Amino acid sequence: MAPQRVAVVGAGIGGLAVALALAAKDLSCTVFERSAAPAADGFGIQLPPNATRVLYGLGLGPALDAVSVRPVAREIRRWSDGALLGRVPLGAAVTDRYGAPYLALRRADLISVLHAAVGPGVVRFGARCTAATPDGTLTFDGAPAHTADLVVGADGLRSVVRRTVRAYLSVLDEPRPIGYAAYRAVLPAAGAPPVVTVWLGPDRHAVAYPVPGGLNLVAVTAGPLEGAFDGWDGELCKLLDAAGPAVRHPLYTRRVLPSWYRGRLAVLGDAAHPMPPFLAQGAAQAIEDAAALAASGPQDLPRYEGERRERTARVAAASIAGGADYHLPDGAEQRRRDRRIAASGLPDQDWLFA
Ligand SMILES: Cc1cc2nc3c(=O)[nH]c(=O)nc-3n(C[C@H](O)[C@H](O)[C@H](O)COP(=O)(O)OP(=O)(O)OC[C@H]3O[C@@H](n4cnc5c(N)ncnc54)[C@H](O)[C@@H]3O)c2cc1C
Repeated sequence: MAPQRVAVVGAGIGGLAVALALAAKDLSCTVFERSAAPAADGFGIQLPPNATRVLYGLGLGPALDAVSVRPVAREIRRWSDGALLGRVPLGAAVTDRYGAPYLALRRADLISVLHAAVGPGVVRFGARCTAATPDGTLTFDGAPAHTADLVVGADGLRSVVRRTVRAYLSVLDEPRPIGYAAYRAVLPAAGAPPVVTVWLGPDRHAVAYPVPGGLNLVAVTAGPLEGAFDGWDGELCKLLDAAGPAVRHPLYTRRVLPSWYRGRLAVLGDAAHPMPPFLAQGAAQAIEDAAALAASGPQDLPRYEGERRERTARVAAASIAGGADYHLPDGAEQRRRDRRIAASGLPDQDWLFA
C-alpha cells in the first residue's frame, strides 16, 4: 500500500502536536503555516496533566521541564479583600494522582519545543491556505496546490478547513463573541510565588500565575480594563499597575460541529471547538485531539470524532458555565458558590485531568 500523505493546516499548538503524534505512528506530515516564522506571543499558558500526559508520552518531558514552572496550588480569592475562598493542591499532588504534571510556561517556549521535536523541513512557512476540498486538495495564496490522503485543519478560530467540513449555513457557524475580553500581560517577576491565583468578583475575574522569570496576568472583563478592577484586592491592583498596558483579546465561542470530518478533511483544536479560557483547557483539548487522531489513524475519522466530540463539547460548556459562576454578583448565589469552592479539591478535577 502506498504511504499515506498527511497535510496539516496550521502550525499552532494543535497542528504541531498532531504532526508529532502522527510521526510517532510512522505517518509523516507536511504542516502549512501562514506565518513567515514560528508564531507565538510571549504570554503564559497553563498545561494541565491531561495535556502533559500526551506531550510527555511523545518524549517532550525533558524539553518542557527546562522551560516551565510547576505551580504548587491554585488559590481562589474574593475580589474585595483577597480572602482565600479555596485552595486546590497542584504540584506533586497532581503528578501523584494523574501521572503527569501541571505546568505553566510561555507560549513561545512551548511552540519552540514542539518545532524542535517535529524537526526541520516539516513546516512550510508563508503558506496561507485559502480553500480545502473534500478530496484532500488545498489551495494557497501564491503557491501550488497540494493534495493529501488526509488534511487536518488545525487552523484555529477562523479555520478555512472548517468551512468545507461543516454541513450547515455559514452564517450559523460564525465565531460568536461571548461579550468579554481577556487582557494579558507578563510582569518581570522572578521568584513569583509558585501559585495560580484567581480573583473572583461581580462580572469580572483575574488570574495570575508564574512562568519562568515572570508572572503572567490575565484580567477578564466586558468593558475597558481601565478602572475595571478599582476597589479590588490591593495585591491584584498592585499587579495591574505594575503590568502597564495589557493586550486585549476578545473571547469567542462557536457552535458544536455536527461532524468533525468530511471526505479526507478533519478538524482539530480551536478549528473544531473554540472555548473561552476559563478552565485553561483550549490548548489541552487540542493536544488530546492530536493523540486521538493519531490513535484512530487517517482511515478511521468516525472513531476520532466519536472519541472527541462529546468530551470537547462538555469541556467547552463547562468553560462557559465556569465564567458565569466566576462572575456572580455578591449575594446568596455567590455565597453558595463560595461554599462549593471551599469544599472542592483535586478529585473534583478528575473528569478533566484524568
Ligand atoms: C487569554 C487566553 C488564555 C488561554 N489560556 C490557556 C491555558 O492556560 N491553557 C490552555 O490549554 N488553553 C488556553 N487558551 C486557549 C488556547 O490558546 C487555544 O485553545 C489554542 O491556542 C488553540 O490551538 P490551535 O492550534 O487549535 O489554534 P491556534 O493557536 O489558533 O493556531 C492556529 C495556527 O494556524 C495558523 N493558520 C490559521 N489560518 C491559517 C491558514 N488559512 N493557512 C495556514 N495557517 C493558518 C495560525 O497562524 C496558527 O499558527 C487560552 C486562550 C486565551 C485567549
